[in-house]
Formats: sequence, structure tokens, C-alpha cells
Amino acid sequence: MEFDDQSVDTSQLDDQRGGMGSGGRIALGGGGLGVVGVVIYLLVTLLGGGTTGSTTGLPAGGTGAGASAAADLAARCNTAGALDTYDDCFVLKVFNEVNQTWTSYFSGRGQAYTRPTLVYFEQSTSTGCGQASSAVGPFYCPNGQRVYIDLGFLNELQQRYGAQGRFAQAYIVAHEVGHHIQTLTGTEARVRDAQQADPSRENALSVQLELQADCYAGVWSTLANKDGYVTIGQADVDEALNAAQAVGDDRIEQKAGVDVNPETWTHGSAQQRKTAFQTGYQGGTLESCGTVPQ
Ligand SMILES: [Zn+2]
Repeated sequence: MEFDDQSVDTSQLDDQRGGMGSGGRIALGGGGLGVVGVVIYLLVTLLGGGTTGSTTGLPAGGTGAGASAAADLAARCNTAGALDTYDDCFVLKVFNEVNQTWTSYFSGRGQAYTRPTLVYFEQSTSTGCGQASSAVGPFYCPNGQRVYIDLGFLNELQQRYGAQGRFAQAYIVAHEVGHHIQTLTGTEARVRDAQQADPSRENALSVQLELQADCYAGVWSTLANKDGYVTIGQADVDEALNAAQAVGDDRIEQKAGVDVNPETWTHGSAQQRKTAFQTGYQGGTLESCGTVPQ
């Protein structure tokens, strides 16, 4: 993949790394199987969904150096070769591009698109959806409209899940922003209502939501390519398809040495996730990803 414009916009980043030491490490994933892209809406429900003052998008300032750290990051990420060298610059650049693409797309339909905030954290963080640890993997919290990632996950993606390549990482970012779109469109709220109305369908509905986010990642790939923001080739698409399969629930269960049981799935099988990305990539519209809940 190649970026048309190499500049990185740090204004949508809340960098909480370094010196935060934010207390307890409560894993939200439940068994650690819902590794990628956990939407922790259930916890929002449990907590009553109150907005807290800590999620306003300002630099965390835990070290007392928030503003200068942001300036340092901006300076480093805007040097030649930074996107190849630094994971934090690359992920932020993808986040910029994904949001730019969706802003244009929604604007073209006469609709507003509110950009989410990207949060970098280490080990654990306090979110509008409760306390979260790195163990849950990257996730989106609707309450505060923030995408959270511990960049250590990028190594895990390669080494533990065998998903290589920069575009595998771009897919993860685009998937999380896909959850943001689901919040903007009201899909996330409808799914949450449906889950509350019929708890026996909780996992099945979660799978629908996750597959639609995979599909939106595919739509973004096509739109970004078409708009000329990012040049995406077949090798990139293959990396995304491989990553989508690598984080399929059946693959994760096999790796964990537990029985493969579709009833426990929350994100979909390797094949389902691959197909969802392909559907979006070929369809190129939100509509091509269908309506959820079904
Ligand atoms: Zn997800």
C-alpha cells in the first residue's frame, strides 16, 4: 500500500502511553477469545452508559507532558520514511485516511460524519465502556466514540496469529472504524436492543455486527483506492483476507486448544470474516454490507 499524501494528522489522537499506570487490569474479553475488535457495548449497558469527563479527547496528560509529547509525535511522524519505520505513525496515518475516506463518502450523500478519536494505551486504560486491558485487543467504545489500541497487538497479530504485512494492520484499524459507523448509523444501538430482548441470540447478533465491520473495512479499501488517497494492490488485499481469517473464531479456538463451537462465536469463522471483507471490497458501498440485525 502507498499513501498519496505522507503527512500525519495528530489532532485525532489521544496518546496515553507512558507513565499512566492506570490501575487494575480487568479483561473485558471473557476468556480472551474475542480478541480482535471487541465492541464492549454490554459493559456500557451494565454501567448505565453514563458519559464520563475522562473521555473528551484531550491528551491524557498523565505524565504532565501531553502537549509536548503530541508535538514530538507529530514531528517524528512527519519525517521522511516515518510511516515505514514507526508503528504509531503508520496506524495513525491509516486512521487519518480511513476517516478522510468516510468523511468524503458521507458528505457525498449529504450526511455528516463525525470522526472518532484514536487512543494509544499500554496495558490498561479507563474507557467510556469501563476499564479495559490490552488482552482484549483493539476495540471501539461507542460511549465517547473512541478506538483503542495497544500497539503491542501488532506484534501479536504477526507472531501469534500469523497475519503479516502492513495492510493486515490497516484492516484492523478499518474494522474498528467500521464499528464507529455502526454507532453513527444506529446499528450498534439496534443490535444492543435486540440482544437485550433475546439474550439467547447475543452471540449470533454479535457475529452479525462484527462481520458487517469486516465488510466496511473492505468497502473502505475500495473507496480509498478509487479516491486515490491510498494505492492498494492485490497483495494488500491478500494480507487483509489472510488477517481476517487469522482472527476467525474457529482459528482462535483451534489455537487455544478448545473445541470449535459456533455457538460460542462472537466474531465469525475464518471463512465468514474473509467473505465479509471480500463482499465489501467488491461492493464498495455501505449497502453492500447488508442491514444488521437480520
Ligand atoms: Zn469488531
